[in-house]
Amino acid sequence: MKTFERDDLLFFRFEALPDNGGVGHAVFSRRGGVSRAPFDSLNMSLSVPDERDRVYANRRRVYGLYGRDTNSVVHAHLVHGADVARVTQADNGAWVEHVDGLITDQPGCVLSMNFADCAPIFLYDPVRHAIGLGHAGWKGTVVDLPGAMVRAMAAQFGSRPADLVAAIGPCIGPCCYEVGEAVIDGVRAAFAAPDELLRQNGRPRPHFDLPEANRRNLYNAGVVHIEHSEFCTACRTDLFFSHRAEKGRTGRFGTVFALL
Ligand SMILES: [Zn+2]
Repeated sequence: MKTFERDDLLFFRFEALPDNGGVGHAVFSRRGGVSRAPFDSLNMSLSVPDERDRVYANRRRVYGLYGRDTNSVVHAHLVHGADVARVTQADNGAWVEHVDGLITDQPGCVLSMNFADCAPIFLYDPVRHAIGLGHAGWKGTVVDLPGAMVRAMAAQFGSRPADLVAAIGPCIGPCCYEVGEAVIDGVRAAFAAPDELLRQNGRPRPHFDLPEANRRNLYNAGVVHIEHSEFCTACRTDLFFSHRAEKGRTGRFGTVFALL
């Protein structure tokens, strides 16, 4: 990813995804907002006990980069599932219920989601001019939310998986993601070579490779162009919020994917 600074904001863009007159995207760090500890400072979410006015001020800064505010981007109530919603401009300002993937082919539609360890999934179809934004923690990963997004774009827009450009954003890495029985059982049931994703490396408990599992989900769905941010959110709490590393007392960083 490439690093950008504007005013106090620090954010990132993938090499593989465009940010031009037709499509825009960004992964925001936790820097450049007005929230106080432990939400310092660019917390985008009211699902944590931050002050409402500060969250709205943060959203104005982030969405303002795309000429929007919280009432003119599409949000999702994330539930760690594999449901995907097709949205349009009419959904700008709405909170789409019970989905972890949003897709659109309508210019003027701006997708947003917030994260703290789960993997952001970006999908771009340069042929059909369509985009998708998804949220995959371990539950979304073992139920293949990324594959569901690929199939939804194929069904709704005629996207060919081989045309899609995918990017996996900052998420907790195998360096930090020690997991218990529920995750281990889920990964063993979902993946062909689970031991490659449950890394032991001499440690007492396995550590789940969340980004690699989602790369495999995308690859198994036919996507070949896949970029990964390489940032571990738990290693880099200077840049990102991490639910695991900060023991739940933290905020959520924002992502935006816009079809212009
Ligand atoms: Zn780490």
